Amino acid sequence: MILVMRHHVIEPLGVLYLLGIAKKLGWDAQVVLIKESDFTPLYDEVERFKPDIVGFSIWTGWHVQTFKACDHVREMGVPVAIGGPHATFNADACLPHADWVIKGEGFRLFRKLLEGDLGHGIHFDDERMAEGFPVPDRELLYNLYPELGRSPIKSIMCSVGCPFKCSYCYAPHYNNMYGGFELTLRPVDEVIEEGLWIRENFPCDLIYFQDDIFGFNLTWLAEFAEKWPKQVGIPWHCQIRLEMTRDERRLDLFRDGGCTGITLAIESGNDFLREFVLFRGMTDDLIEEGIRKIQDRGLTLRTEQILAVPFSDIQTDIETLKFNVKLKPSMAWTSILQPYGGTNMGTIASKFGFWRGTNDDLDESFFDRSTLQHVKGGRHSIEPVARALKSGKESSLLGMKVDLPPVGEGNAKVFPRDLVGINGNPTTPACEISYLSPEENARYCDQTAILQRNFDWLSKVPDGHELATRFVALPKEEWTWATLGKFGEVHFVEKCGFDNVLLFKAQLTEAFGGPTLPEKIAQNPYPFFVLPSGPDFARYLVEKNVLETADQKVLFDDFGKEVRYWLYGRALYKTEEAKPAIVAL
Ligand code: SF4
Repeated sequence: MILVMRHHVIEPLGVLYLLGIAKKLGWDAQVVLIKESDFTPLYDEVERFKPDIVGFSIWTGWHVQTFKACDHVREMGVPVAIGGPHATFNADACLPHADWVIKGEGFRLFRKLLEGDLGHGIHFDDERMAEGFPVPDRELLYNLYPELGRSPIKSIMCSVGCPFKCSYCYAPHYNNMYGGFELTLRPVDEVIEEGLWIRENFPCDLIYFQDDIFGFNLTWLAEFAEKWPKQVGIPWHCQIRLEMTRDERRLDLFRDGGCTGITLAIESGNDFLREFVLFRGMTDDLIEEGIRKIQDRGLTLRTEQILAVPFSDIQTDIETLKFNVKLKPSMAWTSILQPYGGTNMGTIASKFGFWRGTNDDLDESFFDRSTLQHVKGGRHSIEPVARALKSGKESSLLGMKVDLPPVGEGNAKVFPRDLVGINGNPTTPACEISYLSPEENARYCDQTAILQRNFDWLSKVPDGHELATRFVALPKEEWTWATLGKFGEVHFVEKCGFDNVLLFKAQLTEAFGGPTLPEKIAQNPYPFFVLPSGPDFARYLVEKNVLETADQKVLFDDFGKEVRYWLYGRALYKTEEAKPAIVAL
């Protein structure tokens, strides 16, 4: 059997568990992780290994090219099974490309498949995690992909399930498939055993618990926090929802149990977008308070946000940056929305005319330029109507009816509930929304892209949102590294004083080890003032030639990615030594 998944810096946990099942049943298994959608290594491995089955784990956005690979493998005479998120929410679309499609959690079904006890077609096991978590087989994967084995960060999953209803997430639909939320927890001793195995067999400085809501169950967490530090002792990072910070016992258990950092989503600095579009009705106060509690315990923090959502505009995106400047996370991770069909976000995006494509038109990346048709004035037309119609917890956007014009022609009419009243006459629209022209829309999409590339470092600049506002207001042709440096100069002088800026430059130059700075760093030294080990980062970029390209889009794409990875190691996970930033907020 060969298991196939996309290559990522994080090991594919689902594949590890499936390998564990295969090993237990005595199957000889191989794994092929696909890099940059090049499936040639898979076809070569099918030729060489001659598997009885090839299993693909697919998620939406990576499905179009992977379906072609499934077809190719079947043409080579090998049956194909498809699982993963895309199979769970789009099983019918997967079926033409597979012999078996496994919806939802599929460990028991996978076992049956390997035992020859599963007929062709779509399968769904309505008993969630019926046989618990399998024992993962890391050894095979780490030996095949030594870069994953060498990674100082290893991932573990302790639970499955999430009760929250973020509009862009499949979790609410997953819960509906099973008749409601249920948290499936692994026994603490099993997690300890996995941690010990990792510690004894592969290098590991940090465990990343991939659960959506790690530590949701306090009884489980108390046992874990008691045993993990004594028996395993590897520092760990986890993901939670902000609401989970309300109970401070949880945060104490995190700290006492060896947690060094937390990832949580804010998604937007605008409360209307948070509540009505993203379905994350949490107040600014809850966010600020929760983050303060985390930081008071000395834990590092990654906030996550999404730019260019329906009814956003550049002001709300800058608001999100401003909020992060205030919150001072270790890292402000930012993505750009992909409106996957099957989520409530997909429904809102389609209903209001932000998105008229299908999942086949969407990319897998969270960093690509927005593909939405955005509206004029952002949230301003819809917000009063949405707030007035709100009753209960559900966003009123879901209940509204929208009369969409043909693409590029006129306004959409928004009705509270029905297009036609009880007397058969058309009802009066509650509001109309008009769309940005193609030029205006391209402009906003470009603005969010350049903001996303610079978000992380700008969140560490004193009043960084003001610098961002000025920079994104420039014509696109002026979004250059040198211009950012000129605007940075004015901003830093205004915020820190001329003499201090000279001092910061002198510190950077001295730490760089030369009487002068390399040309590109001298042009724009400001990111290196605010990032940890900034001079080392500048040297790293120079050595890698990241700033030399004349193509400014490529430069900012690469720069944003490098900043992200720099912060992972030196601010969030702290798997690398780092010196404090020259200028700290
Ligand atoms: S908290 Fe995370 S897993 Fe849960 S619904 Fe929101 S995005 Fe999905």
